[in-house]
Amino acid sequence: MDIKDGFVGTVGNTPLIRLDSFSEETGCEILGKAEFLNPGGSVKDRAALYIIQDAEEKGLLKPGGTVVEGTAGNTGIGLAHICNAKGYKCLIVIPETQSQEKMDMLRTLGAEVRPVPAVPYRDPNNYVKLSGRIAEEMENAIWANQFDNLANRRAHYETTGPEMWEQTDGKIDGWVAATGTGGTYAGVSLFLKEKNPDVRCVLADPKGSGLYSYFKTGEVQIEGNSVTEGIGNSRITANMEDVPVDDAIQIADPEAIRVIYQLLLKDGLFMGGSVGINVGAAVALAKQMGPGHTIVTILCDGGARYQSRLYNPEWLASKGLSPS
Ligand code: PMP
Repeated sequence: MDIKDGFVGTVGNTPLIRLDSFSEETGCEILGKAEFLNPGGSVKDRAALYIIQDAEEKGLLKPGGTVVEGTAGNTGIGLAHICNAKGYKCLIVIPETQSQEKMDMLRTLGAEVRPVPAVPYRDPNNYVKLSGRIAEEMENAIWANQFDNLANRRAHYETTGPEMWEQTDGKIDGWVAATGTGGTYAGVSLFLKEKNPDVRCVLADPKGSGLYSYFKTGEVQIEGNSVTEGIGNSRITANMEDVPVDDAIQIADPEAIRVIYQLLLKDGLFMGGSVGINVGAAVALAKQMGPGHTIVTILCDGGARYQSRLYNPEWLASKGLSPS
């Protein structure tokens, strides 16, 4: 018998998918870890589960307690599902720039949703800092603190990385992913380097994020912005500290959009915007490394969460973008 134990038992163990059109184009194996198939629909289910289990194990989260988090959406969705499955309450602080689909989903899941103006991290009213203060002021509540809580990257060090290794029989030449908290990139990079120090670990970054310039020049410089959601940062989170970064690749929005439409129309995969950055960077890395290499990346979430934006030609046009 192979029966999963509810939502929690269904997190992880996602397939690794060969992205045919991009593999053929580059002569490399471009492989995407199908994180959109997690029960909450994104890569963040893994971090959400580890963060809650860690708080339970430390005795911080007690029956009837509340999980508070500042999130661009996907972590909140993962947390809200797990809170329902385990009998906790969930309060989510989210920048009001995030897609309506994610806000609606959070409300459907019964989370208390507090949209706030999107302001930089240095501002005390930044959504992450605000969520920390709310948790502190509440009785029987924890702050998930995904950016600096190392249970996040541990999820990927203990599950995502080992799964990829097993699925490829250890034949991985390159690994590339964009970062929000950095948990996915960090956990997988730390695991892969331990297995084989020659695996090239490359950070992908959208325009409007400071990490590309930081890893290229040592300085955080922020130029432009991106229609992608959930990725990019202006600081090095605790999850990203002491993590191998062999190179960084910046992908601009027109390329990310072209990639997600190619995935949709040539590979039959309906993906979110950060996948455009990830697969765009995987293709760039394949071109750098040359044919015959195996490159792994993350298919973070599905396109339905962005239907009214990335898959709406009028919205795209309002941002000066088009599907091709
Ligand atoms: N893609 C999407 C759509 C996300 O929501 C996130 C998380 N915010 C990421 C990528 C990045 O994942 P991580 O937080 O592990 O860096």
